[in-house]
Order: sequence, then C-alpha cells, then structure tokens
Amino acid sequence: MRKRFRCKDLGWKCGYLQTAPTVTELMVKVEEHLRHFHALPVLPADLRQRAESVVYEVPPRERPEVRGTAGREASRPVPREGP
Ligand SMILES: [Zn+2]
Repeated sequence: MRKRFRCKDLGWKCGYLQTAPTVTELMVKVEEHLRHFHALPVLPADLRQRAESVVYEVPPRERPEVRGTAGREASRPVPREGP
C-alpha cells in the first residue's frame, strides 16, 4: 500500500502532500520539503518521529482526489409552489 504524508497532519498550515511506495522513500522526500519550505536544515529527531507517526496508508481503491465540485449544489432547481 502506498504511504502518504501531509504537513497539515503535523498541525502546520501547509498544503504539502507526498506519496511514496515505502515510508523510507516517503521520508526522504518529506525531509527535503521540510528543509526547503520550513527552514529546517537539520531535522530534529523528535520531529522526524512525529512526521513518521502521521504517515498513513492510502487505501488501494481510493479515487483520485476530486476538487472543485463543492458549492455546485446550490444550482439545484427549487420546486415552485403554485399560487
Ligand atoms: Zn510543509
């Protein structure tokens, strides 16, 4: 199963999301992101642990994330009542 990491799971306001086949590969990419975007040239051990702890497995049947459909519900026709 693929592994996924999201920065916001660490409680940060960051939309970063990374997926990889293994935790090891995932953490390499995540560490790179933390280095560049969160100014952490040296990743503290406890933060690395926290980051690993929020990694979760992506269910194999999960559909690609669908975005942009929210808010369209409002265009549903409203039934009219007769006089
Ligand atoms: Zn981030």
